[in-house]
Amino acid sequence: MLLTTHTPEPHAKPRFDDIFMELAVNLARRSHCIKAQVGAVLARDTRIISIGYNGPPAGTHNCDEEFQGAGCPRDSKGSCSLALHAEENAILYAAKNGSEIEGATIYVTLSPCIACARIIYSMKIARVIYLHSYAEYKGIPSDEGVDFLRRFGVTVEQYEPGEGVTLLAEPPLSGPANAQKTAGTPERDSSLR
Ligand SMILES: [Zn+2]
Ligand SMILES: [Zn+2]
Repeated sequence: MLLTTHTPEPHAKPRFDDIFMELAVNLARRSHCIKAQVGAVLARDTRIISIGYNGPPAGTHNCDEEFQGAGCPRDSKGSCSLALHAEENAILYAAKNGSEIEGATIYVTLSPCIACARIIYSMKIARVIYLHSYAEYKGIPSDEGVDFLRRFGVTVEQYEPGEGVTLLAEPPLSGPANAQKTAGTPERDSSLR
C-alpha cells in the first residue's frame, strides 16, 4: 500500500527531495526480488540521470517467478545472491550511458549496504538520501554503509518529508525473525508484471 499526498496549502510546492523519493518508493514496487524491494533515483542539478531497483540483471532471473517456493538463492549474509542492488542498477545505467555522476545525489528507499557505499564513494556521488534504515530493521547498532560514507566525506541524510508531504512506504525488508517464513509467499510481488 502506498499513499502519497501533497500540498494542502495551495502555494506550497513539493521539494525535489520529495518528488525523487516518491519516485524511488514507486520504483521499489517494480522489484521482483522476494526478500526486499528497494528503489533508487540518481539526480544531478534537480534532473534525473538514472533510476534503479534491486534485482538480477535484465534478461536473467525474475526471483518471484523462478523461486516461488524456496525464495531467492542467498549469499553468506542472507541477501539475494543474484540481484544487483537498486543503487548499483542506477549507477551502472548512468555510467553505461556516459552520464556525469560526480556530484550527484542518490535517493534510495533503504540505507546503502557497504558494497554500494564503496561504489557511491568511488563514483564521487556527493549526497545520499535514504528512506528506511537497514540497521533499524535488523536491530543492529549502525548502518555500516552510512558510517563508511560519512567517514569519507559523503553527505548522508535520512529522508524527512517536506511540509505538507506524506510519504508512506511499506518496509522494504522482511524482518530477521520472519525472513524464512515469508520467503516463500511473494504476495507483494504477485501483482507485478
Ligand atoms: Zn532475489
Ligand atoms: Zn547495496
